[in-house]
Amino acid sequence: MLKISEIFQSIMGESTFAGLRGGIVRLSGCNLRCRYCDTQYAYDRFSLRSVEDIINLLDSFNTSLVLVTGGEPLYQEETLDLMKALLGKKYTVLLETNGSLSIAQVPSGVIKIVDIKCPGSGQSDKVYWKNLEYLSLSDELKFVISDSDDLQWATKVVQEEGLGKENTVLFSPVFDKISPSVIAEWIVENSLPVRLQLQMHRLIWKEEVRGR
Ligand code: SF4
Repeated sequence: MLKISEIFQSIMGESTFAGLRGGIVRLSGCNLRCRYCDTQYAYDRFSLRSVEDIINLLDSFNTSLVLVTGGEPLYQEETLDLMKALLGKKYTVLLETNGSLSIAQVPSGVIKIVDIKCPGSGQSDKVYWKNLEYLSLSDELKFVISDSDDLQWATKVVQEEGLGKENTVLFSPVFDKISPSVIAEWIVENSLPVRLQLQMHRLIWKEEVRGR
């Protein structure tokens, strides 16, 4: 059984899949405590649901796209079984993970969107750097930027690790903390191989995408 915060359908708010309709499975529980966290409601409130139950509900949404998110979805081992089952049902499966836990066991075929936590999160010492070795070409890396210090830090990581050549790298502003224009201008000035990402759900609904 999995601890589930919520399951609903909406549009994807982030990644290169932003704007597409799909099912969203939000797992409960997280091993981090980011300063800007907008899903605190997922820390400890949950209902227990079986993989079969979850898939039955997703099937009713009539979509082939599913986002598995949290909280931190890899905090629960059974999430791996859920993703395997979804792949078996021919879903396109996206996994959003905070980047502090190993992605080595994530079933191949799952598209991983892996955070690299910047200092502004207060959690950058938790980054599991070995994950960079486990990326597939379709996976994406995400830096959530709180301020200009984060912007400089993320740029250094991108340049030192040679990121952005194979995997899409997303620079995403923390809503109300830093203007997207500052990041856009920085990307242009520094010729960075990254994509500016705006949280689409924030622009539309002014809050984290949720069941409604
Ligand atoms: S990893 Fe995500 S869910 Fe966990 S504290 Fe950070 S922002 Fe919140």
